[in-house]
Amino acid sequence: MFPEIDHILLSREQIAARVRDLGERIAKDINNDRLADADAEVVIIPILTGALVLTADLIRELPLRLSLRVVAVSSYPGASISSKGAKIRGELPQNLAGKHVLIIDDILDSGQTIGLVKELIAEQRPASLRTCVLLRKPETCRMRHVDVEYVGFDIPNEFVVGYGLDYDGFYRNYPQIATLKPEAIAAASRATKPGSSQ
Ligand code: 5GP
Ligand code: MG
Repeated sequence: MFPEIDHILLSREQIAARVRDLGERIAKDINNDRLADADAEVVIIPILTGALVLTADLIRELPLRLSLRVVAVSSYPGASISSKGAKIRGELPQNLAGKHVLIIDDILDSGQTIGLVKELIAEQRPASLRTCVLLRKPETCRMRHVDVEYVGFDIPNEFVVGYGLDYDGFYRNYPQIATLKPEAIAAASRATKPGSSQ
């Protein structure tokens, strides 16, 4: 069904186990914060579209009263595999003052996406602001330094797909983290006109 997949970096089981660990740590940390003010709301902000799958799994590991507000950021136009800068698409969640906010993204690469979202949310003065990513590429990939509290896996500097991550809009439903065969990337670059991916 996915003949273009090259090699698998992380299996379904590895991802599921790690997401459970992250959920436990995040719930513990947020509950700790809420000792000071038990009424403070918890808001989870997934960065669309890549964080969808992680968010669906992670929030079910958080036994907390929480709400979800999405933010859409695009950085990869069409069939490209490197970042082209980050742009907020549509509305940024508002009224986050005094709330405990957790940003979720699929991967930390150049740092532009999370850097931008964190900066704009921090201006609203939330009670706490943390970030969780499933994957983190090496520090040498970073154009902007960003602190991320929760990281699922450190991976090499390879373009990966699956578990929410796409190539030209596809493979988000592939349940593991994997690389694509080079010919699949070359073929897609020839076949597609530039679009906008989130
Ligand atoms: P950054 O702004 O940190 O460079 O990149 C973050 C965004 O770029 C991620 O949300 C993701 O959409 C995309 N991205 C970065 N590296 C990869 C990758 O290896 N595979 C895929 N599919 N997307 C990536
Ligand atoms: Mg993304």
